[in-house]
Amino acid sequence: MVLLLGTKNIHKIREITEILSDVPGVKFLTWHERPFSDVREDGKTFEENARKKAREICAQTGLPVLAEDSGLEVYALGGAPGVRSARFAGAQKDDHANIAKLLDALRNISDRRARFRCVAVLVFPDGREFVSEGVLEGSIALAPAGSAGFGYDPVFIPDGYGQTLAELGPDVKNRISHRQRALEGIKAHLSF
Ligand code: IMP
Repeated sequence: MVLLLGTKNIHKIREITEILSDVPGVKFLTWHERPFSDVREDGKTFEENARKKAREICAQTGLPVLAEDSGLEVYALGGAPGVRSARFAGAQKDDHANIAKLLDALRNISDRRARFRCVAVLVFPDGREFVSEGVLEGSIALAPAGSAGFGYDPVFIPDGYGQTLAELGPDVKNRISHRQRALEGIKAHLSF
C-alpha cells in the first residue's frame, strides 16, 4: 500500500520511516512526492490536532495518511508547553529559543520531571481511522547536551538513562521514544 506522511518536519519524517521500516509492503510518500497544504493546528489536544491533520490531508489527496502530533509536558509547569511545544517561545518555532525559555522557567524548580507525548492517527479514504498514543517519561537536564535529534532532545533525559536524547542518538531514541510507542499501535493496521 501507499501511505502519505502528513508532516513537513524532516526530523519526524526520518524517525517515522525508520520506525516503520520493518513493516512489509508499504511505500511511503512525503509532501515532496504528493504536495499538500498546511493544516492549521488549532486543537486543544494532541489527538485533535493529529486527527485534523490526517483527515484534511486525506481529503486533499485521496490517499491513506499517517499524521501525528506530539510535544513535551513538564509536570511542574502544569503540563506546559504541551500542544504549544513548537511555539513555546514564539511563532518562529525556534528550538534554541524554546529550550532557553524552558530552562529559564525551571531555574528555581527542583521537580524537573517531564514527558514526551505523541498521538498518531491513520486515516483511510474509505473513512476508517486508527489512533494510538505513546509516552516517554524523563526529566529536564540543567543544560543542553548533544547534537542529534530535534526540538527538546538536547534537554530531555529519558528515565533509566544518564544522557539526553540528543546524546543517545537515533538508534536509542527510535527504540524507546513516544513516537516509536505511538507508531507501534499503528503497525497492525498497515499489514495486510
Ligand atoms: P508539532 O509539529 O506541532 O507536532 O510540534 C511538535 C513539537 O514538540 C516540536 O517542534 C518539538 O518542539 C516538540 N517535540 C515533539 N516530539 C519531539 C521529539 O521527539 N524530540 C524533541 N522535541 C519534540
